[in-house]
Amino acid sequence: MARYTESVCRICRREGTKLFLKGDRCFTDKCAVARRAYAPGQHGQGRRKLSEYGTQLREKQKVRRAYGILEGQFAHYFEMANKMSGVTGENLLSLIERRLDNVVYRLGLAVSRPEARQLVSHAHFLVNGKKVNIPSYLVKVGDVITVCETSRSSAKFDAVVASTESRIVPKWLDMNKDTLEGKVVAFADREDIDLPIEEHLIVEYYSK
Ligand code: SF4
Repeated sequence: MARYTESVCRICRREGTKLFLKGDRCFTDKCAVARRAYAPGQHGQGRRKLSEYGTQLREKQKVRRAYGILEGQFAHYFEMANKMSGVTGENLLSLIERRLDNVVYRLGLAVSRPEARQLVSHAHFLVNGKKVNIPSYLVKVGDVITVCETSRSSAKFDAVVASTESRIVPKWLDMNKDTLEGKVVAFADREDIDLPIEEHLIVEYYSK
C-alpha cells in the first residue's frame, strides 16, 4: 500500500499548521512549523493566493494527512458520513475519530497517530478481548481497548504513558492508566476534535 515515507514535518509545513505527527518534538521549539512557517520547497516562501477549489482541497488534505488516511478510504468515509443523519462534516470527523489507531492515540497509548498506527499493526491491542491489528477498525460505543498482556510489561508502554501523562483524554473515552484499559463511552462530538478544521470546506470539495 502506498504510504508517505518522507519527513512528516514537511506535511505540516505544507498544510501550514501543526498536525502533531512526531509526538514530544511537536511541543518543543524544534517543531519545523515553529521554525519555518512556510511551505517546503523552492517556492515555499512565495506568496500564493489559493483558489476556492485550492482552499477546499487543502482542507481535505490536512485532515487526511493528520489522521494518516489514504485518498480512497477518505472518500469512502465521506460517503458513509453523507448517508448518516445530521451534519455531514461533523459526521465525517466523528467517524474518523473512531478509527482504532486514533483511539489508541487519544487514550495516550501512543505519542502520535503514526506511532499508534504502527503499534496497532503490530498487534499490541485487544478490542473486547480479541487481537485487532487493523488501524482503520472502527470502534463502537461500549468497546474496551486493552494492551496485550505480553506488551503491557514492556518498558515501551511505561515510557509512552509517562510521556502522555499531561494529555487530556477526551470525554467520549474513559481511560484507566493503571490497567491500561480504555473504554468508548460515546462517539466524539465536534467540540472533542481539537485540530483547526473547517469541515464545511471538505463537504464542498466532495459536493462538486
Ligand atoms: Fe514536525 Fe510535529 Fe511540528 Fe508537525 S507538529 S512540524 S510533525 S514537529
